[in-house]
Amino acid sequence: MTTRSDRISGYYDQTLETLSLEDRAAYQNGELEKIVQHAYANAPAIRKKIDDAEVKPDDIKSVKDLERLPITHKHELAALQEQDPPFGGFLGLPMDRLRRICMSPGPIYEPEETHSRNDRWTQAFFAAGFRKGDIGQITFSYHLVPPAFWFEDALHRLGCIATPGGVGNTDLQVRMMHDLKVTGYIGTPSFLVNVSKKAQEAGYDLERDLCLEVGFVAGEMLPESLRDELEQGFGMLLRQGYGTADVGCLAYECYYKDGMHFPYNCIVEIVDPDTGRQLGPGETGEVVATVFDEVYPMIRFGTGDLSYFTDEPCQCGRTSNRLVKILGRLDQVTKVKGMFIHPGNADEVAAKFPEIDKYQVVVSREAHVDQMTFTIELKEGVEPVEELAGRIEAAIPESMRVRGKVKFVQKGTIPEGHKKIDDTRKWD
Ligand SMILES: [Zn+2]
Repeated sequence: MTTRSDRISGYYDQTLETLSLEDRAAYQNGELEKIVQHAYANAPAIRKKIDDAEVKPDDIKSVKDLERLPITHKHELAALQEQDPPFGGFLGLPMDRLRRICMSPGPIYEPEETHSRNDRWTQAFFAAGFRKGDIGQITFSYHLVPPAFWFEDALHRLGCIATPGGVGNTDLQVRMMHDLKVTGYIGTPSFLVNVSKKAQEAGYDLERDLCLEVGFVAGEMLPESLRDELEQGFGMLLRQGYGTADVGCLAYECYYKDGMHFPYNCIVEIVDPDTGRQLGPGETGEVVATVFDEVYPMIRFGTGDLSYFTDEPCQCGRTSNRLVKILGRLDQVTKVKGMFIHPGNADEVAAKFPEIDKYQVVVSREAHVDQMTFTIELKEGVEPVEELAGRIEAAIPESMRVRGKVKFVQKGTIPEGHKKIDDTRKWD
């Protein structure tokens, strides 16, 4: 039987997950050179992208060199595929090498052959605590879209058994988990909440009658309060991963859940959406991915998600940088005093102060200088004192890297269904 400590220690690939900074750079630069050459020779869309940037494939020798190439955004893929069906010129191998083609909303078609994407999910599953012999129930859709298949492959690679639950049928899924003594959950956090409700309605004790010990969730935010509730309720470990249907896994949590590690076999940049330049630790920008995937070699693929990374060491011993948190979508971003701010950053500030009932960030411009104001309605009985305003003002730059002022307002001032960030600047 797998014990709790087995689920915490070890690596899927110790050598590659614990490379030194220099060795990782050498490994990734080598893989990058190979995939750029391969894609240039085989995928017309990538060849055009490189030619249009007036760059030679030989010029791309390091992660830094990627800055010379434009970013291909997810919203462009559907149009590119329509112009040049079915894969928009991104297919890097002959059709007869494919084993599966999925369809994501767009529609966007995703070809699959090689295993590198799935290897990234396998790293994620191992880090989450899945081990040989687990029975993992996959509650993602098995229709059209790729994730359920990827996760099934990852389970098989670890020597686990998959039970294909798919979407819905919660009563049956609970029954299956109980009867087969399923040890692993793969799905969204919200479906696990449904499982917990239905299991209790069926008279099961979550910990005694179900055998869930480990879970991997994706596709939704996982608030820490919900994680705690589910981990305690089921007596399980619950870890999350991040990726997209186009490029697969880009980051995953380890036992220490202190951000999400980048897999060794892809390059994740955090990029200034205006300039395409790479940003450093703690700076908010778009998540841009390059994957070493010969069949669908996405080079500088812009996910449209905003995040920031840390290069602080992690207790697990994996040496890759980690995404701290997905803050939201690029289209909700606002630039203040040259820094990108996002509703997710503002939520971080508000979360530190239980006194806050409701807030809105107002961005304005006075004498050609951007101003950011947290307009705040306080909870019943909380006094709008200077001292509280001072503490909130001190917390704002920690999460947003821009200073802001606090303005307390009467209850009912902030309209229902308000935008979290209201940009009132006029540029004419
Ligand atoms: Zn770690």
